[in-house]
Amino acid sequence: MKEVNPASRIALSSAVRTAVDILGFDKTLVEKLNFPDHLYEDRLEIKLDNGKNLKLPAWRAQYSNIRGPYKGGIRFHKDVSAEEVALLSALMAFKTALVNIPMGGGKGGVKVNAKNLSDSERERVARAYIRSFHEILGSKVDIPAPDISTDAQTMAWMMDEYSNIVGYVEPGVVSGKPQSLFGSRGRNNATSRGGKLVLDKLVTHLNIKKIPLTVAIQGAGNVGGWLAKLLDDDNKYKIVAISDSNGAIYNAKGLDVGDVLKYKRETGSVEYFEYAQTLTYSEMLELPVDVLVLAAIENQINDDNADNIRAKIILELANHPVTSRADAILDEKHITVIPDILANAGGVVVSYFEWVQNNTGFYWNENEVATNLERLMNEAVTQVLRSATEHDVNLRVASYIVALQRLKKAWELRGVIH
Ligand code: NAD
Repeated sequence: MKEVNPASRIALSSAVRTAVDILGFDKTLVEKLNFPDHLYEDRLEIKLDNGKNLKLPAWRAQYSNIRGPYKGGIRFHKDVSAEEVALLSALMAFKTALVNIPMGGGKGGVKVNAKNLSDSERERVARAYIRSFHEILGSKVDIPAPDISTDAQTMAWMMDEYSNIVGYVEPGVVSGKPQSLFGSRGRNNATSRGGKLVLDKLVTHLNIKKIPLTVAIQGAGNVGGWLAKLLDDDNKYKIVAISDSNGAIYNAKGLDVGDVLKYKRETGSVEYFEYAQTLTYSEMLELPVDVLVLAAIENQINDDNADNIRAKIILELANHPVTSRADAILDEKHITVIPDILANAGGVVVSYFEWVQNNTGFYWNENEVATNLERLMNEAVTQVLRSATEHDVNLRVASYIVALQRLKKAWELRGVIH
């Protein structure tokens, strides 16, 4: 593993730049925001099941530890690059600052076509990553988590490899572990639970009285599936459409979420669910619903379709599902977008709880996790809504204002800037 200089500045979004302008950051600080503290790279050598050797480029970007250890997932994906992990490490630092947890921002990745890996090959990639990067990781230094194509089992392998290298069991080196191996209760649905808390609070803030609010959910995976269940259990909401990578379904009278998810488990997709009409991806995104939830992949609302969106509220559970240009169009159409760094922060909050439990060796019950998650998410939403009113900006810019103010304060107090 070696430290490299980032080839280019981080491509911070126009919303971040607007927040920076409003806060009046000086040149030194703006320059600081453009680069991670560290960017490390290596080539992992893996033996495939067929005996062939493969060399895989891998990275860890550490953006800022000014508010606590670097924190962020490791993804296995064919398109991962140094630029991508650097940008995502910055977004993690903004997210942890926004929800005010004592952690910074980091992100890692391995450039590999994860779909082609067998379980044993995935294990070898996970262990090789730790052997390469272990010197710059640690429960007080940098704490990875699952991301695209990595999961609780991957984290268990990583924790095991790290513990073998350092010579003692170190559960706090990664989060998102299985509950039976130092994981936290409530981590599996934390992102969706956090998203619902934010949505509920916004509906109250906007004084929306209509019941039920119609909801369309793009992405019936872990996050979208859990959110569908949570909203379905609350009579304020009615799920009328759900999609996955195969197709989309719609029923104006409301879908039976339990049946849809059972059907998906049995057949692999929601497509052709009997009691619904099949829609195209664009028809589903353009439905005139009260709430459109984006819980799939990035760039789903863009130049091509932003003008056609008819939802009143968009909840971004996926990371970066709306492009910057589409964001401006949605703004003009007065559509309220609940931005990713707020809407999906419940995941990192419970990852933080897992780290607290690992470091104290005392494990919380379901209720303690839920109560503390609710407290932190509610505080974050309240601050974002206040910032949006004070500066007359949308929720995305307001979220960055809250986050960047906290980072600036920490830089000042630690004497990095004056
Ligand atoms: P997942 O792989 O379990 O689910 C993703 C779902 O999206 C799948 O059902 C897939 O079929 C669907 N999908 C893919 N392309 C689609 C398309 N074009 N149209 C409709 N559906 C499509 O992943 P997940 O863990 O649920 O994560 C979903 C998103 O949330 C990702 O962007 C992830 O980065 C983000 N996120 C997840 C967490 C977490 O705790 N898992 C935390 C923060 C952010």
